[in-house]
Amino acid sequence: MLKDKIAVITGGTRGIGFETVKVFAENGAKVILFGSRQQTVEKALRELAELEIQADGYWPDLSDYAEIEETIAKIISQYGKIDILVNNAGISANQPIEKTSAEEFAKIMAVNVEAMFNVTKAVVPGMKKHDEGVILNTSSMVSIYGQPAGVGYPASKFAVNGLTKSLARELAPFGIRVNAVAPGITNTDMVASLPKEMIDPLIKTIPLGRIGEPRDIANAFLFLASEMASYITGDILSVDGAARS
Ligand code: NAD
Repeated sequence: MLKDKIAVITGGTRGIGFETVKVFAENGAKVILFGSRQQTVEKALRELAELEIQADGYWPDLSDYAEIEETIAKIISQYGKIDILVNNAGISANQPIEKTSAEEFAKIMAVNVEAMFNVTKAVVPGMKKHDEGVILNTSSMVSIYGQPAGVGYPASKFAVNGLTKSLARELAPFGIRVNAVAPGITNTDMVASLPKEMIDPLIKTIPLGRIGEPRDIANAFLFLASEMASYITGDILSVDGAARS
């Protein structure tokens, strides 16, 4: 489905991003993953090599636009272009507002929203040059109704939806589609770090009766990245077992 496409995936070292790297590669894409540290990027690349998946990796500081621009330029000089960008890096929060500092709130907006803005801004000129491209963002089901604590997280994901819908309109004339996937609770380290008392009652409310697996989310990214979704842009695709309703 993605034969010979060049895909950059942020937060590609584990969880949803790592699974998306695998699914894209299995479908013929050449994948460049971003992670926060050299060590975790190299570990992910080693795990991929064991699966006979050849990928590249970088660890630019996603808050530093100049560093991102330099990394994107390197990728374009090596691969010729970038067809698909998946903005997936993210962090969560679960503390009540009075226990949340302004710095913590700012950090979550920096990783979940500003980084998405920075990487997208660096990739768009190359996509415009080729009159095509796909940008996919990781949102969350909490971007639909919020969550009972950790307000920075849903606030950041509402912003992700805003970026997605607005950029879809701005970039459609250039053949660039922009969509997001809004996962429900998904079986990754991010969820493992949340208190059991918070997760268990949520699972009971999921109509499909289970939490999502990273592959459920990766498959949605695959569909949206492919030609099968050629008339879909500005959409936030829920992949949550109907947990949102
Ligand atoms: P994870 O913690 O397993 O992976 C997060 C990824 O983001 C890692 O690759 C990490 O390196 C990267 N990252 C984090 N901070 C970074 C930083 N400062 N700079 C660069 N990279 C950074 O989590 P996951 O569950 O796979 O989450 C991936 C995305 O899915 C996130 O955007 C998250 O908000 C979203 N999401 C997850 C769930 C869930 O239940 N797991 C639900 C909805 C949405």
